[in-house]
Amino acid sequence: MSNAPFLDISHLTIAFPRSPLPVLNGVDLKIRRGEYVAVIGHSGCGKSTLLNVIAGLLKASAGGVVLEGKEVNQPGPDRAVVFQNHSLLPWLTCYENIRLAVDQTLSASLSKAERHAWTMENLELVRMSHAKDKRPNEISGGMKQRIGIARALAMKPKVLLLDEPFGALDALTRAHLQDQVMEIHARLGTTVMMITHDVDEAVLLSDRIVMLTNGPNAQVGEILDMDLPRPRDRLALAADPRFIAARAAVLEFLHHRHTAPGLVVA
Ligand code: ADP
Ligand code: MG
Repeated sequence: MSNAPFLDISHLTIAFPRSPLPVLNGVDLKIRRGEYVAVIGHSGCGKSTLLNVIAGLLKASAGGVVLEGKEVNQPGPDRAVVFQNHSLLPWLTCYENIRLAVDQTLSASLSKAERHAWTMENLELVRMSHAKDKRPNEISGGMKQRIGIARALAMKPKVLLLDEPFGALDALTRAHLQDQVMEIHARLGTTVMMITHDVDEAVLLSDRIVMLTNGPNAQVGEILDMDLPRPRDRLALAADPRFIAARAAVLEFLHHRHTAPGLVVA
């Protein structure tokens, strides 16, 4: 059991009805407990499709996903998702948005007072305690994503699934949130799979970068180990030869070697 991957994606093929070719074809990926994996690939190659299957929102046509020995076939609180466009309930406050998720997932194990304390703790984790009584339309996009992350983490998921969570944010806010996510990952040791198309983000945050080939029939083209020491400092790393080399390797893949291995391009 201890040698088995924590999250095991094997021979995953996904075809949508009425389209002749599968979006993903034979994706294999093993993720360790506590690992931070970034998945990068061109727009439309099937990144969100892959994440949605792991989330249990979409069924695989062939192959499958096993999390801690258990087959994934429906959504569950052990796999919390944060999407690019925050999906907070607009009529609830920040506190209530998180509290709802806490009540839905932890009512059996925590008392009412404990659920309150846990909600407050997660607000503090993303430095949003000050805005607990604000509604989503009263806070910025970056703050909404922080609440989305707090809500996801409050469910104590085994895996945090992030689908381009910072894609809609300005560069400075994005940098700030990336630093916060790194800090949270270091503190909690949560297993994270993050979809991104931002090369710098992938290199800065992850333990491994999984590069998908272009669809249809997309698969894992290459995996890059990012064994840079943590904690990572974005300014120091910008001049680090290992960071620069990794960045170049990912860019090279995206621009030149993005077709499936073994596929002959005319
Ligand atoms: P990415 O997240 O990498 O940009 P997606 O996973 O969203 O890409 O989409 C991959 C491909 O699958 C695209 O060509 C998209 O049009 C197609 N696709 C996604 N969802 C559906 C669906 N529900 N039905 C049919 N085709 C879909
Ligand atoms: Mg997508």
